[in-house]
Amino acid sequence: MSVIPGAWRRTAAGAGLLAPDGSVAPTIFAEMSAAAARTGAINLGQGFPDEDGPAEVLEAARAAISRGENQYPPGRGIPDLLVAISEHQRRFYGLEVDPQREVIVTAGATEALTATLLALIDGPDDEVVVFEPYYDSYAAAVALAGARLRTVPLRAPDFQPDLEQLAHAVTDRTRVILVNDPHNPTGTIFDRSVLAEVVRLAEQHDAVIVTDEVYEHLSFHAPHMPIATLPGAAERTLTISSAGKTFSATGWKIGWVHGPAELITAVLTVKQYLTYVNGSPFQPAVAVGLRLGDDFFTGAARTLAHKHEILGTGLRAAGFTVHPPQGGYFTVADASELGGADAAAFCRSLPERAGVVAIPLTAFVSPEHRDDYAGLVRFAACKRIEVLEEAAARLSAGF
Ligand code: PMP
Ligand code: GLN
Repeated sequence: MSVIPGAWRRTAAGAGLLAPDGSVAPTIFAEMSAAAARTGAINLGQGFPDEDGPAEVLEAARAAISRGENQYPPGRGIPDLLVAISEHQRRFYGLEVDPQREVIVTAGATEALTATLLALIDGPDDEVVVFEPYYDSYAAAVALAGARLRTVPLRAPDFQPDLEQLAHAVTDRTRVILVNDPHNPTGTIFDRSVLAEVVRLAEQHDAVIVTDEVYEHLSFHAPHMPIATLPGAAERTLTISSAGKTFSATGWKIGWVHGPAELITAVLTVKQYLTYVNGSPFQPAVAVGLRLGDDFFTGAARTLAHKHEILGTGLRAAGFTVHPPQGGYFTVADASELGGADAAAFCRSLPERAGVVAIPLTAFVSPEHRDDYAGLVRFAACKRIEVLEEAAARLSAGF
């Protein structure tokens, strides 16, 4: 007999969260990190950097602990971080955010996304439109909220959606259009025409736009453009981001969500009973990070773009077809020519065969669409250059 109660058990199984024996399935990221630890393979699976972020930011967290900032912070987040987020949105994007009413700090982008979906979903007929492949927590959070996921495919080589398919997916049942830009896992950055169509459809069908911009500072060719900056968007958009990627501190789990005060109030009602608060000494440190000079932000994007080039060169030399990313931590490559037409099987054998861990794109796709992404593999580039070079050498030797 299962210890997991009925209704959640069914939704969890539907969302692929339960293993066939009824136990909780690990996320693909945890499974692949465990495979790397077990085999000693280089871990280009789970997206986390192998170097620390800016020293000032780390030092600010240490100083906050020493000052005794170790108890519950205010429910919305510490005032200085709320102000720093507001300043950051004005400085980079010209967005006006009232730090007292229009922003809250969350336990990473993950909590912001889940609390937002739980707050906005009314019932089982509500739909959430997402681009597919999608980050794994989206389907789980939509299942938790008891709504339906509607997907719009992104296809190689450019991974831009077809605007007719997008328009077809959004209906009066659509409660939320969820847009991750820059996009994990494909590395795409949506054309302005795509963002504008999202806004038009959200207005037409009275949907809320929810964004996931955790890679906002890792855009390689053009400055990031939040959807909230498009005409008509800000009044119906909840903008979500996180400090994890920008400051190479994925374990700190400081995220935020901002948008119209009424929507933020709705999200806060859920958030305060999910975690209430988190990370008190990390909050002042993230405020320091958000106020760093422009050099830090442009340098982070430039360094990561260079790492993607090294990784891409290595993958091509090993025989992969590479789809160079426009932003974010990941490069997608096609392994079909290397006998990897079934990338899930390919990735399972990769640690033993080549001493490298990567993640099949099928992990980011609903079960019924897996064939469309069968040969594609995601590699993380957020590692030291010598690690990427060693991975490239191992892949070349392995095939
Ligand atoms: N969204 C995307 C697209 C991600 O790649 C990740 C993972 N890093 C998250 C959200 C989760 O962010 P956080 O760790 O801040 O919860
Ligand atoms: N965002 C990270 C990735 O895509 C993983 C985060 C996690 O393990 N949940 O690799």
